[in-house]
Amino acid sequence: MLYSLKEYDKTAPDNGTYNTAPPKFRKVEEKEICTSLLFYYNPELIEDRQFMIDGVFRKIKLFWFHDRTGVGIYSDYTNKKIIWYKFGCDHNFVELSQQECNKRDLMHFGSCYHVYECKECGYINAVDSSG
Ligand SMILES: [Zn+2]
Repeated sequence: MLYSLKEYDKTAPDNGTYNTAPPKFRKVEEKEICTSLLFYYNPELIEDRQFMIDGVFRKIKLFWFHDRTGVGIYSDYTNKKIIWYKFGCDHNFVELSQQECNKRDLMHFGSCYHVYECKECGYINAVDSSG
């Protein structure tokens, strides 16, 4: 699928500035990127920031996903390698029952519809498993 990012005036989901790291920014191994959202969803926003990492300012390209998490990449030009980062919550989802969704005014469409809530950040994710 081809898509284009055209909204240039959006605010970053964390309201961060050019020189601030997004929340819970952490270095990860390449194998963690292989199972990240980067290969399941397209990012909603792509942002360049420059902030302090290990005592030096580094320019990081951030890929924000719909759930306020993301992947960051740094091009280590000197050593010709990519350094990978993740940021945002490391979600810990629990499924909400249809009754719980009704009580909380959350949409629920029946048995093939699953609504999950992260116990850490409160993010709600709904999935239709019917097809
Ligand atoms: Zn979370």
